[in-house]
Amino acid sequence: MPKFIEIESKSIIYRHRFKDNWFWVRYAINPYRGCQFTCSYCDALTEKYLIHGDYHDFAKEIYVKRNAPFILNKELKKFRPDVVGLSGVTDPYQPAEEKYELTRKIIEILRRNQFPVHISTKSDLVLRDMDLLKEMSKDSWCTVSFTIITFDENILAYLEPSAPSPKRRLSAIKKLKKAEIQVGVNFIPIIPHILDDKNNIEDVIKKTSKYADYILIGSGMTLRSNQRTRFLKLLKINFPELFDEYKKMYKNRTDPPHQYLQKINYIALKLCKKYDIKNYIEPPDFKVVSPQQTLIPTDDFIKENRDLAQHLLLIAFLKEYKSGNIHSNWNYHKAAERIENLDENILKHYHEGILTDIPGVGLKIQEIIEDYLLTGTSHELEKEMTIYG
Ligand code: SF4
Repeated sequence: MPKFIEIESKSIIYRHRFKDNWFWVRYAINPYRGCQFTCSYCDALTEKYLIHGDYHDFAKEIYVKRNAPFILNKELKKFRPDVVGLSGVTDPYQPAEEKYELTRKIIEILRRNQFPVHISTKSDLVLRDMDLLKEMSKDSWCTVSFTIITFDENILAYLEPSAPSPKRRLSAIKKLKKAEIQVGVNFIPIIPHILDDKNNIEDVIKKTSKYADYILIGSGMTLRSNQRTRFLKLLKINFPELFDEYKKMYKNRTDPPHQYLQKINYIALKLCKKYDIKNYIEPPDFKVVSPQQTLIPTDDFIKENRDLAQHLLLIAFLKEYKSGNIHSNWNYHKAAERIENLDENILKHYHEGILTDIPGVGLKIQEIIEDYLLTGTSHELEKEMTIYG
């Protein structure tokens, strides 16, 4: 049994500088630090996320932000409603949640304030909150992503020793789908040389695609700082034949080489097409509602600009996925960010012929924007989608 350490947090909501085009999150909330699921590939062990003195205590000491709901109620007033990622770092439905119910309280506050939510978890405890998620689905937007990296229980004994089984997760996916709550799979990370054979990739896609709305497939498992040390130790003891393979593959880098990512992404895309499932989440569509009218304008242009920005981000996602390089289309991210934060309608820039004054907008993106403003979509997006034929 871990030790629960109750702490008072000064701030609870974190605003990302750039909107993420995998999960569509603008904000992150982490009610707990430390995680009881003890996954051996856990990235949250790296120093940049860690608040534990020693990373070995990550699953033994769970820091509980008791005042999170109170702080959130105050902090939300500063922000424009947009998608909140629950959590950014640790699992919001780890066993601590049964006792503290912080995630539930946070969702309730977000729902009241019309903030959409993207929940990422390995636990079917999320089913407890289906009542709130159903209401959010109707009033704004929500999605739940379950991590499933394999159905092979023997390998999972090494990789996710304390998490609920993928069968339980799949059963929860079916229940959410039946309740008409958007639900998908995080097939992240595909662990090199252990889970990257075509059979495993196909098995996960085949079993989940019948029920999920999407499958996000991440081939770029990072290895850094404490997480690297711990994972390589696990390899050395349990998969000694792979130790040198990893040294060759990662060398001094934190990510697998680009050619590897491209190869795995290609296999994943072909299989997504075979099983007719999206490898991306449709951009969130939700109203601009502001309970704090004095602080935030609610004119329609905010939604129009946001929809266009998300259109550009989706194009970037599809291009980056195929190329295996998540930074290859940075101008799209830059342009989307500026467009989403314009204080006037993008149409004004279009009519005045000054679209390229927006940072990140070159001739190619200008063409896409013009196409989108005239037709509500773009040839470029259609071209990138051809894989789905
Ligand atoms: S569930 Fe997520 S945060 Fe928790 S140990 Fe596993 S990878 Fe880390």
